[in-house]
Amino acid sequence: MVLLDNVNLKNLNTFGLHAKSKGIIPVYNEINVFEVLTERLTPIRILGGGSNILLTGDVDAFILKNEIKGIEIIDEDENQVMVQVGAGEKWHQFVLWALSQNLAGVENLSLIPGSVGAAPMQNIGAYGVEQESIFHCLKAIHLESGIRKVFFKDECKFGYRDSIFKNIVKDQYFITHVVYILKKQNYTVRTDYGAIKDVLAVKGIVTPSIHQVSEAVIEIRKSKLPDPALIGNAGSFFKNPVVSVEMFNALQNKYKDIPSYPVSATDVKIPAGWLIEKAGFKGLKRNHIGVHHLQALVLVNFGDGNGKEIYHLALEICQTINNIFGIKIEPEVNIW
Ligand code: FAD
Ligand code: NAP
Repeated sequence: MVLLDNVNLKNLNTFGLHAKSKGIIPVYNEINVFEVLTERLTPIRILGGGSNILLTGDVDAFILKNEIKGIEIIDEDENQVMVQVGAGEKWHQFVLWALSQNLAGVENLSLIPGSVGAAPMQNIGAYGVEQESIFHCLKAIHLESGIRKVFFKDECKFGYRDSIFKNIVKDQYFITHVVYILKKQNYTVRTDYGAIKDVLAVKGIVTPSIHQVSEAVIEIRKSKLPDPALIGNAGSFFKNPVVSVEMFNALQNKYKDIPSYPVSATDVKIPAGWLIEKAGFKGLKRNHIGVHHLQALVLVNFGDGNGKEIYHLALEICQTINNIFGIKIEPEVNIW
């Protein structure tokens, strides 16, 4: 077991925030996890790519940095493959691997930062597809007992940017591998969401391949989202709120341009970015932190900001949205 002391976490979180921890332990396999448990090092926090955390100060814990690699086909037939992926693989590397094998299912999830092990945590999603649509099971180790457990899809309770790992069993399991099912044939590509259709139309593409959908998604993402390598951020800071149709109708009487997307017969989703923009926060710059000028859902660190400032800005945004619209928005990012 290697314990790295005195490491600044700045390069290990996409907000680029300075912080220390009790030590960082790189984990390359399951045995490394058991070694840490035998040493009884507590408390423990698990880190992947650091693209969905906000560090509000030093971390009073030992950090297990997930480096478990490997992409392995474990079963297949003429229609699909079952693939087991090490939780420390980068998500986008997995997407590129799938595309290189002509396997469908992850093309809309191109260019999402972070690790495969964190993908089930919040059931990552983009452009109308969530990872649960290809999820088969995951392998995890219970941190307190050291017992291995396989979680099948139903047990994970996947929801909108949510799973059992984000609430009921939060911080209790180290996810070591995720098993996905990807299609060789008999699939339909999803292009009805956001700007994908427009980008494909401009290129004159009528029946797009999975590669063309992935390229369109990458093009849109690069044009809209701040690159964490250039400006610190953790993607969308807040979840989009879901409200009743009655509440939405009342809001629409007041705000004619309020956008919405149906979730069920009784509920609609309102883009939190619209609410934040309407409340006047878009493009805000306060000391070294702020709200991105193109995407109000993204809080940013311009360079020397600190996590507490970002946290307080997030609270202020939630409070203001509640005051103006009577809607409670919640952070999507994990606050450490
Ligand atoms: P981390 O930030 O390292 O960890 C996040 C949480 O998961 C922590 O609580 C951590 O303890 C836990 N965790 C991590 N690994 C494990 C493990 N192996 N076992 C148990 N717990 C673990 N998200 C989307 O859903 N859709 C998007 O389109 C999207 N776009 C983004 C764009 C940008 C520019 C950025 C910066 C972020 C974006 N995100 C998006 C958010 C983020 O990329 C995802 O949530 C991603 O899955 C986080 O992975 P990570 O490895 O960086 O997790
Ligand atoms: P967008 O396309 O400008 O749309 C704004 C919001 O409206 C999105 O958040 C999306 O909700 C919703 N929306 C748009 N079209 C929709 C449709 N046809 N059906 C249902 N909902 C629709 O959003 P964007 O910021 O450029 O992001 C594009 C996609 O990438 C979204 O899916 C977004 O979630 C994802 N993304 C996520 C993060 C993150 O950190 N979580 C960061 C960047 C992008 P949903 O978010 O529910 O899809």
